[in-house]
Amino acid sequence: MAKQPDGKFPVAKSNDEWRAALSKEQYHVLREHGTEPAGASALNDEKREGTFVCAGCGAPLFDSQSKYDSGSGWPSFTEPRKGAIGTSVDKSHFMVRTEIHCLNCGGHLGHVFADGPQPHGLRFCTNGAALIFTVRSDNS
Ligand code: FE
Repeated sequence: MAKQPDGKFPVAKSNDEWRAALSKEQYHVLREHGTEPAGASALNDEKREGTFVCAGCGAPLFDSQSKYDSGSGWPSFTEPRKGAIGTSVDKSHFMVRTEIHCLNCGGHLGHVFADGPQPHGLRFCTNGAALIFTVRSDNS
């Protein structure tokens, strides 16, 4: 298992506290660097306007405008919200990838790849279990 990114985060809990606060799937992805099966998340088909927040701490991570259909089976975004996400080098599974995590709680989200659409050319490939969608209400 790959280790969590190093460093201290504003939201810090013990493994037991995280386990109590999260579902099995959320804990596996966010705290154990897990990957959900492709196509597993209902968020793949989420097309409404709103914000994708961290399932661990509630920090807003992605806006719906940056979501696109990558065909990968994982919720994909062209860019995160400013200052929301950190990266680390992930050498697990005999690959070198760039891991992405919530900068507020350190929770693992997925990876970023360089095969996204222009102009950024990036694909932020997330696990739906790491995110919660909050739909934009008319009066906000
Ligand atoms: Fe978080």
